[in-house]
Amino acid sequence: MSGFLISLAWFALFFGGAIYLAYNRVNLLNSTLVMGGILLAYLVFGDWSFLWMLVLVAGYALLVIPNLLEFRREKITRPALEVYRTMLPSMSDTEKEALEAGNTWWDGELFSGMPDWDKLMSFPAPALSDEEQAFLDGPCEELCGMLDDWDISHERGDMPPEVWQYIKDHKFFAMIIPKQYGGLEFSAYANAMVIAKLASRNSTASSTVGVPNSLGPAELLLHYGTEEQKDRWLPGLASGDEIPCFALTSPQAGSDAAAIIDSGVVCKGQWEGKEVVGIRLNWDKRYITLAPVATVLGLAFKLYDPDHLIGDREDYGITAALIPTDLPGVEIGRRHYPLSIPFQNGPTTGKDVFVPLDAIIGGPEMAGKGWKMLVELLSVGRAITLPSTAAGGGQAASYASGAYTQLRRQFNLPVAKFEGVGEALARIAGHTYIMNAAVSVTAGAIDQGEKPAVPSAILKYHCTELGRKVANDAMDVHGGKAIMMGPNNYMGRPYMATPIAITVEGANILTRSLIIFGQGAMRCHPYVLRELQAAADPDTERGLVDFDDALFSHIGYAISNAARAFFLALTHAKFSRVPLTTPTRRYYQNVNRYSAAFALTTDFAMLTLGGKLKIKELLSARLGDVLSAIYLASCVLKHFENQGRRASDLPLVEWSVRTLMYHAQEQLHSFLRNFPNRPVAFLLRCIIFPRGRTYSSPADELGQKIVGLITATGESRDRLSEQAYKALADNSPLGLLQEALEMSERYEPLEQKLRQARKEGLIQAEYLGHQIEEAARAEVISKAEADDLRDYHAKVQHLMAVDDFAPEELRRSGEAPKPTVKAAAKTKKKPAKKKVARKKKVSAKKAE
Ligand SMILES: Cc1cc2nc3c(=O)[nH]c(=O)nc-3n(C[C@H](O)[C@H](O)[C@H](O)COP(=O)(O)OP(=O)(O)OC[C@H]3O[C@@H](n4cnc5c(N)ncnc54)[C@H](O)[C@@H]3O)c2cc1C
Repeated sequence: MSGFLISLAWFALFFGGAIYLAYNRVNLLNSTLVMGGILLAYLVFGDWSFLWMLVLVAGYALLVIPNLLEFRREKITRPALEVYRTMLPSMSDTEKEALEAGNTWWDGELFSGMPDWDKLMSFPAPALSDEEQAFLDGPCEELCGMLDDWDISHERGDMPPEVWQYIKDHKFFAMIIPKQYGGLEFSAYANAMVIAKLASRNSTASSTVGVPNSLGPAELLLHYGTEEQKDRWLPGLASGDEIPCFALTSPQAGSDAAAIIDSGVVCKGQWEGKEVVGIRLNWDKRYITLAPVATVLGLAFKLYDPDHLIGDREDYGITAALIPTDLPGVEIGRRHYPLSIPFQNGPTTGKDVFVPLDAIIGGPEMAGKGWKMLVELLSVGRAITLPSTAAGGGQAASYASGAYTQLRRQFNLPVAKFEGVGEALARIAGHTYIMNAAVSVTAGAIDQGEKPAVPSAILKYHCTELGRKVANDAMDVHGGKAIMMGPNNYMGRPYMATPIAITVEGANILTRSLIIFGQGAMRCHPYVLRELQAAADPDTERGLVDFDDALFSHIGYAISNAARAFFLALTHAKFSRVPLTTPTRRYYQNVNRYSAAFALTTDFAMLTLGGKLKIKELLSARLGDVLSAIYLASCVLKHFENQGRRASDLPLVEWSVRTLMYHAQEQLHSFLRNFPNRPVAFLLRCIIFPRGRTYSSPADELGQKIVGLITATGESRDRLSEQAYKALADNSPLGLLQEALEMSERYEPLEQKLRQARKEGLIQAEYLGHQIEEAARAEVISKAEADDLRDYHAKVQHLMAVDDFAPEELRRSGEAPKPTVKAAAKTKKKPAKKKVARKKKVSAKKAE
């Protein structure tokens, strides 16, 4: 072998070894030993080329020097720490509290660039207890049956009294309240499944039930309340005698909720005939769900103590208290009208309302801790109510759209057969699968004790956005049927409702731009928070030691991520370790690849932009998109395992992961295109995309397989819409659609007979209704067969029908007083209801 080749072999051994060690994140001591071994071998057997020696010694020194602690700290870390301090992002107290809320879970693994799949796979599949299952099959199913959307949304503007009573009697408001207080004490998973089922049926009911089981007085009391407060309020909240709401938002403070000007001043006042130290409250809130009918307000306000009655401070900051709504000065009763979904939502004001100090949730020692409480609870609650609402809506849309497009014919074919419609159907089903997976896997983690703050934000944003996409697609594939409002339109109202979930609990643009990555980067990164804390340590020498440790671990981690990102991109991650050898194996590998690429990009972004990354919202949002895509893809893979690895669901899994990973690739690409430091962007592109953007979105053929799954009866269609309300009843569109779909499959041989007869000239009609009659007369089909087909045809006709109204039925009477523009209520009176006779007429027009 020539000398050059020998040198090359040594070079390859040395650098290959270094990359291997970095790729596998072997610790410094072992790496030093291995690299030392290679160097020794080189000294004994090598050709001693001076140039190679230099390269090798330099490389080896890089590994060894970090062990020379004193030298390293003084010469490298101290100056680095000084520069770092100048780059630190400014952080408000509220931001710090948001950062400390919850814990890290699978998000932390993805952030590491080297996710340990065994950790995710070891989580048990979430399951309902017998009691929870019985609740879903019993009261929840029954409640769904009682809900008539047209009556609620159009006629009444509220749920009927018997529905309210049923909800209270069966403790729908008490899913999160422990049994000792009379609640149901359901798991997060059961809570999510109940909300999903209700959402598949009626948005007003799911919103009404969702709120008391999400962030509100019960949740606050359970976590922070004193024993007296729990005993005082929880039994009433469990029985439904007390109706709660939580009032944070005010006209001046929406997204920037910490900017509320609602105040509570500590003072002396009269309470139950005695003078006590208490709080005089003034507030002006709006958008508060359940406020119009609430008996107790969870109120967020800023607490001041100008006379130092409770301590040394004058300004305590945001505080949460429970305020009975029957106190003098409290105004409730007026309603907002959220996008024609009439769940109870409205403004509330309070003028000089006096309450004793123990109205503060947790008692006076929790004064000023309100914001911390809220963000801590949101770190869990955001993963449940709104995401499961979106998933439930998706399930209903998938079930309905699959059947409708199979039954609805144009150009003599079911519209589902047209590729354009099929593309939308595949998206509807795939997006629903992603939402189901995310909700189920994350709720399962919560039930195992996790408080996943970043996944909660991911779910809140992405499930509600996917819900909106599903609603859009479902509207499109239904055509005019979904446009014409009336009792027969089951799509229009859910479609109208989608922006509600987008706006609440942190409006989506803000959640994507500021929270997912902004919070994730600090929370989940293995070293950034440690570095920040070390840099802020008032004991500067201790800070230096901690910073040094974090910094050098961080450098090793960054080198490892660079090696991993490059190697995984080069090999399309084919050799990366994954937990399974199933057909989904490649998808785990793809997540590994993008996890490393994401971790590397994050480091460079934080290193070069520092605190500016926070205001570069679009860059931050794109990194959040990548993290979200790999989190959601992991949920899809885990969900598939949790459901017993059903082969028939594979197309859904493939479509979902492909869509998500393609999105991850595209968002990383856009990030690099817009990254202001061009040399760094170039370097990152070389490492992350050495072969270009090679990942492709799902193939058309895969989409067609999914169309087959949701347009035909079968286990995949049922599993995808497992929670959706689909009882076979007159007012249950999903049940009726399924019935007609089953009939269409059963009578397909008869329809085939008709088609054949037409081909042979035995019958002439084009329209099915006429064909049946002609075929019966020509004895192409028997009388019994003709009856079956007539029945089927009539059912389909009924499903295709839309409502029409006499002009006066739609005319507004003008009797009702004009709504006030100001959000603050002046009176408890509700506006007079219009009493317009709304007689409906369903025109069973020919639909084919
Ligand atoms: C139906 C409904 C029910 C509600 N229920 C309750 C309740 O029960 N209790 C309660 O306290 N509140 C409730 N809210 C209030 C809700 O939480 C707020 O609407 C929400 O926080 C957004 O505030 P805003 O509507 O004032 O929007 P704004 O704050 O005015 O925001 C407008 C837009 O700007 C974006 N934006 C704002 N700041 C940023 C930023 N820094 N970066 C990027 N984008 C940004 C937002 O994402 C949004 O798209 C409810 C709202 C609705 C609509």
